[in-house]
Amino acid sequence: MGDRPDIPAPLRRHVLVEAGHRCAIPACRQTPVELAHIIPWAKCQKHEFENLIALCPTCHTRFDRGDIDKKSIEMYKQNLSVLNSRYGDYEQRILQYFIDNPEAEYINLPFGQNTEILLMYLLRDGLLIDLPDKRPITASSRGREFMWYESTEKGRLFISQWKSAENIE
Ligand SMILES: [Zn+2]
Repeated sequence: MGDRPDIPAPLRRHVLVEAGHRCAIPACRQTPVELAHIIPWAKCQKHEFENLIALCPTCHTRFDRGDIDKKSIEMYKQNLSVLNSRYGDYEQRILQYFIDNPEAEYINLPFGQNTEILLMYLLRDGLLIDLPDKRPITASSRGREFMWYESTEKGRLFISQWKSAENIE
């Protein structure tokens, strides 16, 4: 058994950026994070991007103990790549909001010219719909407008698949 070399810094950064420097488990998303080998180091003896994922210490321990299975971890990793390339940061935060608030059907957002651009792909993919006829609950004193958005059935399916480590592609 040779010494285990450090994970090279550029590889380390690449894996951290992939997960937004947060735990890759959708229901967790905590900081700080560690790098975990999906196939254990003892077996693969290699540091490779495809085999590394960012996890918080708690999820890392649960994975090492077998409480989170390898198949799920692989799917979380694959889904990160889909999310990152398909949706922007604002959109991912909205998906995260619905993961963190499973009883929520709606989200109320400040509305302006930019909003529909920021939400473009969630709207285009039919995961979210705007509800211009739903009356705002929040009338800002500065006259800022708000819009209600509803997570569609397709959106709820997407979120539940992401959360339960199914393929979202
Ligand atoms: Zn975690």
